[in-house]
This record gives sequence, C-alpha cells and structure tokens, in this order.
Amino acid sequence: MTDAFQARIEKTMQNLRRNRMEAYFCETSAEACAQVRALLQKGDVVSCGGSVTLRQTGVYDLISSADYNFLDRSRPGMTREEVEEVYRKTFMADAFVTSTNAVTENGELYNVDGNSNRVAAILYGPKSVIVVCGVNKIVANLDEAVRRVKTKAAPPNTVRLNLETPCSKTGECVSLRKEQPEMCEGCHGDARICCNYVVCAQQRHVNRIKVILVNEELGY
Ligand code: SF4
Repeated sequence: MTDAFQARIEKTMQNLRRNRMEAYFCETSAEACAQVRALLQKGDVVSCGGSVTLRQTGVYDLISSADYNFLDRSRPGMTREEVEEVYRKTFMADAFVTSTNAVTENGELYNVDGNSNRVAAILYGPKSVIVVCGVNKIVANLDEAVRRVKTKAAPPNTVRLNLETPCSKTGECVSLRKEQPEMCEGCHGDARICCNYVVCAQQRHVNRIKVILVNEELGY
C-alpha cells in the first residue's frame, strides 16, 4: 500500500470516529471475520443485507452459522410473505451486518437501495450495525460516492440480479448521459434499483454503527 493510500484510510477512519461510528482496519477477509465475531455474542439474533462483500469475505458463512440466531431471508422456497417477515423481524435484531456502497474520506456512508430493507436497518432498529467494506469503496466525497454507485455499484448489481435496466446493458447509469446529472436521476422502469439515497453522517447513537475496512477489493 502506498503512503498516500494509507493516509486516505487513516483519514477515513478518523472521520468515521468523529461521526461517532467505530472504525476498524483489517488486512484480510479472515481478519474481518474475526473482527465481526468479536463484535457479536453467541446466540445473538443476526440479520444481514444482500451483499457480495459478505459472501466474498466469509462473513455470511460466519453469521449464518449455528453460533447465532440468523434471520435467513434467502432460504430456498421462501414465499414473499416469509421474506417480508424476516425484514420486519430484522428491526428487533441484536446485529445487522451489511456492506456499504461507498464510504467517504469525510467519514460518511452512502447507500442507494431499491427495496430499501437494507438502508432501513442501517438507519434504525437493530441494536448494532456492522459494515464490512473493501478499501475499493473509499471515495473522496459524496459527489464521488454518487458517481461510484452510478458506475460501479448499481450496473453490476442489475446484471447480477438479471434486471432489465439501461445500466445493465451499458455499464453506467442513464443519468450520466446528461452533462450535469442530478443525484437521483436515472431510469424509470419497474426494474430500477435506485430508489432511496441515504447518507449516514454524524450519529446520535454513539458507535451503534461499526465500520470494518478491509484491505481488499470487495463487492460492488
Ligand atoms: S437509476 Fe436505473 S439506470 Fe441508473 S443506476 Fe439505477 S438502475 Fe441503473
């Protein structure tokens, strides 16, 4: 890692703490799993947001293990009603584990969500929120975060989810065809996954949100 990149990570962590979110740095996915384990108690009720990062790091396997009461919303054969029930139960969970679409050097988390169960649980409900994030998601500021979602997060997610959106075909948000796109602009079909745009800034509940930065390229 270059000195400049290390300085970016340190600045990001300092500003997360200033914004009353605890920050951790892990060199590897294995270290990140150990950090998540350290933040949980055996028997905790744990839920998670849909996340490639959690799968890549092994955190998903950890939280869905027999050590915890995992609220599983992806069991084969679940009805939509059952999935919705898991979303509602998540508000009572001990911990919600997720990634983020971007983290700024100013110590903000930026997330864009379609169904919005993920951003809802980040904002309120679970006693503890654990965010696992590859260093590839660090951006300078919110403008870069907005652009990151439109170019690096939403397009591959629509491909992964097999959704018919302009960005699933072109690799970037349709809004970027304008010279000065607004944050919330985009496509207008039913498949749109960009519905709620959420910035987590300084928190009222000190250290409810914990951010684990992992020195790997993870997720979208
Ligand atoms: S608004 Fe539509 S085109 Fe733009 S990134 Fe989101 S899903 Fe893709």
